[in-house]
Amino acid sequence: MELDLLPLNLPSDNEKLTVIAGPCSAETEEQVIETARQLAYKGCHIFRAGVWKPRTKPGGFEGNGEAALPWLKRVKEETGMLTSTEVATPEHVELALKYDIDILWVGARTSANPFAMQAIADSLQGVDIPVLVKNPVNPDLELWIGAMERINQAGVKRIAAIHRGFSSYDKKIYRNLPMWQIPIELRRRIPELPIFCDPSHIGGRRELIAPLCQQAMDLGFDGLIIECHCDPDKAWSDAKQQITPDILDYILGLLVIRDQSV
Ligand code: PEP
Ligand code: MN
Repeated sequence: MELDLLPLNLPSDNEKLTVIAGPCSAETEEQVIETARQLAYKGCHIFRAGVWKPRTKPGGFEGNGEAALPWLKRVKEETGMLTSTEVATPEHVELALKYDIDILWVGARTSANPFAMQAIADSLQGVDIPVLVKNPVNPDLELWIGAMERINQAGVKRIAAIHRGFSSYDKKIYRNLPMWQIPIELRRRIPELPIFCDPSHIGGRRELIAPLCQQAMDLGFDGLIIECHCDPDKAWSDAKQQITPDILDYILGLLVIRDQSV
């Protein structure tokens, strides 16, 4: 089987592009609210912030967990933006739903693990919420599709893929290699599946955000998920790749969105 989908039905910046923006991590209530206010002022409709952070090594900031979820609720109440966060376990799903998170995403370390994906899928049985599934860290298209199939088999029909690049020893340019042929093949296999690009985790540094966004648009991607922080240099995770809401607005304003992908 492949996927039985319904349209995502998310607010978009224009009919061709949906943008999700917000910090890598929800660090403090002030940082979350300040970043969200600035993004809302620039016209952003969907806020992202990680509250459970999968870190490569122990000792890094692992997120504020449940304590940060009321901050996201406040974002929704005060700005009207929809909210999204990463879930990696059934407990995360349950808590995110309890605090009215609007959109869930599954991270690249989790989508590489079929047991974790199945447990998340089981916890979503009977729940109607959009779920965005990042590619697994390794360049395995079948594993990526399989992760989405598990969610879909639980009855979730509003699904999108997020292309965030693939781990490699070679980090000369990219933090995670884009290997565009993989999302292109995904589009060929499942044309109705919306595909987002995450230029922040592909690039790993600010200067690459604009060209990666344009490449995604040229390839006909449907959305962008971009890490934005009110004070990026002071971010507690992924500082080098985060941009201010001002810069995001500037980058989005320069994007050329064509009628047909090149
Ligand atoms: C993130 O979105 O902050 C994140 C941890 O991403 P990924 O799963 O793509 O590494
Ligand atoms: Mn991040």
